[in-house]
Amino acid sequence: MNKYSSYDRDLMSPKDALQVLVEGNTRFVNNDKRQYDVLITRNETKDKQQPFASILGCSDSRASVEFIFDQNLGDLFSVRLAGNIASKEAVGSLEFSTKHLGSKIIVVMGHTNCGAIKAACDQYYEGNIGEIIRLIEPAVAAEKNILSKKDRGSHNEIFVEKVCFHNIQYQIDQILKQSSIIRDQLKEKKVALIGAVYNLSTGIVEFDLDNVQM
Ligand SMILES: [Zn+2]
Repeated sequence: MNKYSSYDRDLMSPKDALQVLVEGNTRFVNNDKRQYDVLITRNETKDKQQPFASILGCSDSRASVEFIFDQNLGDLFSVRLAGNIASKEAVGSLEFSTKHLGSKIIVVMGHTNCGAIKAACDQYYEGNIGEIIRLIEPAVAAEKNILSKKDRGSHNEIFVEKVCFHNIQYQIDQILKQSSIIRDQLKEKKVALIGAVYNLSTGIVEFDLDNVQM
């Protein structure tokens, strides 16, 4: 059973929340997922939610957060948009989950082989997709080691990987810039903020532990 039921999450610290995510991902990687009784959980959570973590992740069908962190209904507040972009609406959702639902950690999670990142690398602006690409553009510009125009595109895996990392940092910066609510909660140590990359082939989520704000 989950050590932290939906009723005693006030006892969890941001550090505990990170640990629960790490352990859940390890189970997922090892194909050792928990069995959840959905009837019990649905009943437990029907009147109240108290997710312990908020994930700003990509909409990619292979990056489902409940799967990759092996969590249940009511555990994760999932904000997913292509390219894990911190749009105003996404930041508002994160504010809601941390300030009003008591979530202990915000994870900004990119992933390998991300279509949105690749589209940004190729400056693909068709239709409303352009609205997403514009929010990733600064991460493409932030890559200053690969300068040759012929190397700056989705055909170059290394370029795509570097832009993915820059994008995680850029979206974290955007959250901090846009949200006094989240800045205050970080100051009060009520919540942590961390970047992470999910590897589609290994299943491993690598957290950026050197840059965690906790
Ligand atoms: Zn993606």
